Amino acid sequence: MEIKELQKIIQENGVVGAGGAGFPTYAKLDERANTILMNCAECEPLLKLHRQLLEKHAYEIMKTFQLVADTVGASESIIGIKKSYIQTVNALNQHIEEFPNMRIHLLEEVYPMGDEVVLIYEATGRVVRPGGLPIEQGVAVFNVETIYNVYRALENQPVTDKYVSVVAEVSNPVTVRVPIGCTLDEVVAQAGSVTIKDPVYFVGGPMMGRIGSGSEPVTKTTNAILVLPKDHTIVTKKQRTSSIDLKRAASICCQCNTCTDLCPRNNLGHPIDPALFMRAASNQDYRDLNPYLDANFCSSCGVCEMYSCPQSLAPRSLLADMKAGLRKAGVRPPQGVQASPVPSAREYRKVPEERLMARLALTRYDKEAPMDESLVPVSKVKVLLSQHIGAPAQAIVKPGDQVTRGQIIAAPANGLSVAIHATIDGKVTEVTDRHIIIAKK
Ligand code: SF4
Ligand code: SF4
Repeated sequence: MEIKELQKIIQENGVVGAGGAGFPTYAKLDERANTILMNCAECEPLLKLHRQLLEKHAYEIMKTFQLVADTVGASESIIGIKKSYIQTVNALNQHIEEFPNMRIHLLEEVYPMGDEVVLIYEATGRVVRPGGLPIEQGVAVFNVETIYNVYRALENQPVTDKYVSVVAEVSNPVTVRVPIGCTLDEVVAQAGSVTIKDPVYFVGGPMMGRIGSGSEPVTKTTNAILVLPKDHTIVTKKQRTSSIDLKRAASICCQCNTCTDLCPRNNLGHPIDPALFMRAASNQDYRDLNPYLDANFCSSCGVCEMYSCPQSLAPRSLLADMKAGLRKAGVRPPQGVQASPVPSAREYRKVPEERLMARLALTRYDKEAPMDESLVPVSKVKVLLSQHIGAPAQAIVKPGDQVTRGQIIAAPANGLSVAIHATIDGKVTEVTDRHIIIAKK
């Protein structure tokens, strides 16, 4: 198949990265890619979705992955998967001989193994430069559900559903398939009863997720909902304010350097130095601006503030504020920066996931969340027009229109954008520049 033909199918069927920021997948198909990499590292603790999906649909996903490799002309395709996902690895091994240019790369149980830059180094030995794109190293990375959605797109099934894991304080942790646009409350209800009073929904993984509300809609990037007590350490860390974080840093940062020593990007030779930044920012020292400008090279993985810092300070949050401030002020990230050689100590500075879970008081929530693939029925959906990086899709329906599941309701805008589809049969009851609401007939 020609690249343009596959790109058109993927864009029209609304496929975006099924996690993270939702980068439109068609834009990743690039003939400069000599290697394509499937991310089955399940980057954050407690997430179970990708290993289960890959185990259940191993052949379809591998076949589609090979098709993507052939289409872009990549000579090698690599499935990066944690070695502890034994059942999934077994499922892959049943078919791997059929794909001579495909190999399985087993990964350690460390965080953040699913970070694209870390994964590329682990699987290929190549270092993406600070602020650079994987394609500059000849690599394109896709996650498991994204490739599964490409498979469905090739079968004329657009992205209308999302797999979501519900874990932690629920009676039956589960991974379910729901129509995009249903509420988080409706998803959590699939996991039996909530086992605590006043739960907080944490959307995404414990390291990079955020606090959500029960009425907000599921999008193409919603991977997991952690149901947590309101005084859980992850929740309280998210509720801190920057001005207090900065005052705390000024008074108790002991400059131990642990945050820098364990920073996964620093350990790939990128010039991000959270300890130096904390010293400069908390003392309002502007003699050297590099610690501030280098905030652009932080991946927001959270290792520094969720794991490393013995004083429970918040380098990641303060770096995020700095990044946002620089962007608002129109200051561009430093250009053309190259990485230093990867330090030999990197091997000893990896963060074991088991230790991370213990430190975050998550170990007791590390249970199976079996996948149920039957589609959860809902009576109403609120489908957002911007579920991806780039321009929001443009509504092409109006209130009163009858729509069927899978029908395009918003067309891709000019520039980077994908189509959005009806996720249930029903009548359009509201259209704004942000969303479309559909109620069941
Ligand atoms: S969040 Fe912290 S540990 Fe992660 S890349 Fe940024 S500075 Fe490094
Ligand atoms: S780990 Fe914490 S105390 Fe140590 S230098 Fe970093 S911010 Fe300061």
